[in-house]
Amino acid sequence: MITLKEALTLSSTELDTLRDDLNKKIEDNKNLGAYVEQLTNSEISVAGTGVPIAIKDNINVKNQHVTCGSNILQGYNSPYNATVIDNLEKAGLSAYGRTNMDEFAMGSSTDTSCYGKTLNPLDNDKVPGGSSGGSAAAVAAGIAIAALGSDTGGSIRQPAAYCGVVGMKPTYGRVSRYGISAYSSSLDQVGPITQNVEDAAILYDIISGHDPKDSTSADVEKTPVTPNLNADKKLTIAVIDNYITQASDEVKKGFEVALKALENAGHKIIHKNMVDTSKILSSYYIVATAEASANLARLDGVRYGNRKGDSGLKDMYIQTKSQGFGDEVQKRILLGSFVLSSGYYDAYYIKAQKVRHLIKDEYSKIFEEADLILSPVAPTTAPKFGSFKTSLEMYLSDIYTISVNLAGLPAISLPVSNDKDGMPVGLQLIGQAYDEQTVFDGALSLEKAVAYKKA
Ligand code: GLN
Repeated sequence: MITLKEALTLSSTELDTLRDDLNKKIEDNKNLGAYVEQLTNSEISVAGTGVPIAIKDNINVKNQHVTCGSNILQGYNSPYNATVIDNLEKAGLSAYGRTNMDEFAMGSSTDTSCYGKTLNPLDNDKVPGGSSGGSAAAVAAGIAIAALGSDTGGSIRQPAAYCGVVGMKPTYGRVSRYGISAYSSSLDQVGPITQNVEDAAILYDIISGHDPKDSTSADVEKTPVTPNLNADKKLTIAVIDNYITQASDEVKKGFEVALKALENAGHKIIHKNMVDTSKILSSYYIVATAEASANLARLDGVRYGNRKGDSGLKDMYIQTKSQGFGDEVQKRILLGSFVLSSGYYDAYYIKAQKVRHLIKDEYSKIFEEADLILSPVAPTTAPKFGSFKTSLEMYLSDIYTISVNLAGLPAISLPVSNDKDGMPVGLQLIGQAYDEQTVFDGALSLEKAVAYKKA
């Protein structure tokens, strides 16, 4: 598949041919379940004629179906564009097909969607990661030039790592959340999933920037990163020693390879520890489920989507929610309502917010000496479907990604090596808030230094 950078130079006739080829390829790879819907050629002309970008099913595209991989939103069409979609269109790109996801972005495997699971293109018995697994699988399979995903606790970076592509989560507030179905409003960010670091920078530049329509959008100065990309800048990169111990041997091996490569490229490596990493997981799952329970309350059959039940208001609420939401989503709504309930609010929610501040402080301390932090993305490479017997086992696989969202920092995930089965090991570079430039510079340098090749 041609890169985004190349696609942006095509004429409109060349783009037509590209879209035809892409349609054919998508059809040939239907078994992957990466897309939940493609636009037909006549719909494409309505949606726009730019460079086609695959869009996660929780981002609103005007007049298009959007469902968050859920039965509860079947039949819902968006009346407006998310700001990121407006930004794509302004730059000569257009939304092209919806990609599969874990229902309401809750998960790490893209097998809780009402459309069925997405397969990892590199090994169909393994998960593509989640929740933006459809976007990552589409890019990895060569059936998308580039894609948008969303990352609340790793949902861009982790599927990118499992599928061997690049995924980037911007600083919280950098990219507008207007028109994104909220999972956890204080953590969600949209970002690019691409074939390489430069494409990620290009797409990041296009979608980011202050948006008056989103009150959490940051009104800070933004210089485009792409024209200033510099892989030769010498950086200080921190490694959190007591963090890495939780990774598998295969991931540790990949980590060593990357460290050597970075050192050889002239970067300085320093070693740090983070105090009490054991509370990160509970803090995240309290904040995320609390906000999710509030955000999903609006899906009650009154205004959106798929109304069920015809014996009065209470029956409608009960039937709509119990038939519309899947098990994992229902579990999280219950958990979130519980931690917000009076009597438990202080013990759980307030405490989780305090832990969140401590995590932020820990990162700030490290950034007094370092430009970037190198970390695994997940403790293992892509597991087989059904590997996690309980939700908690699945939650534990988020340990490396969620603290970045709690602290609101930018981070990029890229493949650095392959494990013994030929599955990619992805690592992330974490940067300081609003310093996406250094994140991309470091990633470009790491990409060059490891020269990753698919097995
Ligand atoms: N796996 C995490 C969760 O289930 C992260 C999901 C995400 O980033 N959307 O909450």
